[in-house]
Amino acid sequence: MKRRQFVGLLGASALSLLLPGAALADDERKRRSTSTATSTTGTAPVLADTGATGSVVVVGGGMAGATAAKFLRLWGGSNVKVTLIDQNATYSSNIMSNLVLNGSTTMSQLTYNYNALKTLYGINFVQGSVVGIVPPVGTGMGSVRLANGTTIAANKIILAPGIEFDAVPGLTPALQDGYVTHAWKAGAQTTKLASQIRNMPVGGTFVMTIPASPYRCPPGPYERACIVADWVKKNKGPNARVIVLDANAGIQAEKHSFETAFNVTHAGVIDYRPNQTVASVTANTTGGKHAVTTNTGTVYADVLNVIPSHKAGKIITDNPALANVGGRWAGVDVRSYESSGVPNVYVIGDSAASGQPKAGHIANQEAKLCADAITRALRGDLIPNPAPKTNSACYSPITADTASWLTVVYGYDAVNNKMVAVPGAGPIEAAAASQDNFNDMKKWFATLMADSFA
Ligand SMILES: Cc1cc2nc3c(=O)[nH]c(=O)nc-3n(C[C@H](O)[C@H](O)[C@H](O)COP(=O)(O)OP(=O)(O)OC[C@H]3O[C@@H](n4cnc5c(N)ncnc54)[C@H](O)[C@@H]3O)c2cc1C
Repeated sequence: MKRRQFVGLLGASALSLLLPGAALADDERKRRSTSTATSTTGTAPVLADTGATGSVVVVGGGMAGATAAKFLRLWGGSNVKVTLIDQNATYSSNIMSNLVLNGSTTMSQLTYNYNALKTLYGINFVQGSVVGIVPPVGTGMGSVRLANGTTIAANKIILAPGIEFDAVPGLTPALQDGYVTHAWKAGAQTTKLASQIRNMPVGGTFVMTIPASPYRCPPGPYERACIVADWVKKNKGPNARVIVLDANAGIQAEKHSFETAFNVTHAGVIDYRPNQTVASVTANTTGGKHAVTTNTGTVYADVLNVIPSHKAGKIITDNPALANVGGRWAGVDVRSYESSGVPNVYVIGDSAASGQPKAGHIANQEAKLCADAITRALRGDLIPNPAPKTNSACYSPITADTASWLTVVYGYDAVNNKMVAVPGAGPIEAAAASQDNFNDMKKWFATLMADSFA
């Protein structure tokens, strides 16, 4: 598929799904287009009374939670009160954060505040860490409890806390002492890893580990390997190496693009090793190197980046009825994202076991479907969209100025109650990495972030 065809497909699916109203069924779109003006341009929308009444608390102001809060106000209207809670005052985007590692962007350029959500959409933003929930029963009120003891009541609770990591022996002290990074929750960790790579000795070795699936952003670790390889071969001499220890049996996404990148574009620099399960980490061993031991032996690194395996956020795994998929992920009805274990509690984004990739673009789509379903429930319709569709689009930088891409459209399989790839609509990946793709990536990113935060 040529790039132009892909951009056409993106126009028809991904970008259109990013537009307010686009994730709605046709009847809903018609109903709301006459009653609700929307804003992605900086002017406050006129929120109509849509007939929906109630209050919703959203826990987690990341890609999923911020989008859900915004679209609940846009589609739910003036009588749907929305409180968005995040432990941080601003959001650091994971998306594009691998480009901090080669110095082409900075974390401050990837930081988003909640001002537009507050002032344009009338969302009540609260900074705090949620430590407990009481699920609403029927049409009554439940609540969430913050670490400072405050409780906030709601008719519906959305949980969007992203992910937590599993423990790796030796990793916690190595992270605390600043010797080793995960840089898989963007922010200070990302900046730290960038500075370690910059200070790596000439001819040094960068080692990174990839957890077993499912993890957030299936192409992300391979993208990271490419960006670091591209930078070290230009700046750290011909003997610099990037060793990739993958717990999986093979590349998890964009196989063609990354095989080409590893074997051609970055041949001789990237040493890719599948089936490597991390057992322990020892920081600052002899000569200041860091050791990672896997099922096949110990590898020494000048810079060590360990991405541990993932599970749902603590607020979910603390509650077995919510973490009803292996005690690790939240089972959901993919028409509404209501928990399959706890009524009136909804889970969106990386914490949900939705059968779709753990990705920011998918988190945005899940958030809209959830906002739509809650609006219907608060209006008394109680019928979620019977045929939801979502799209995942992902761009992966391969060098400092080229990128590949991957896209999939998912549709609802009513027989098995799950989302499945629509035949003929993906997964489709770029034929080759290019500068055009890199430029399209910047537009895609700006559109996605504006849709969630502006
Ligand atoms: C390096 C990297 C590159 C990536 N690139 C892409 C890409 O190109 N395309 C793509 O689609 N996806 C990409 N992703 C994946 C994407 O970032 C995630 O899938 C997405 O952020 C998931 O959204 P979320 O809302 O579930 O979680 P997050 O965005 O992580 O948000 C969770 C929020 O919840 C808050 N929180 C957690 N617990 C609590 C609590 N108890 N109380 C209050 N607040 C809480 C956190 O502070 C955080 O703000 C990438 C990820 C990484 C690491």
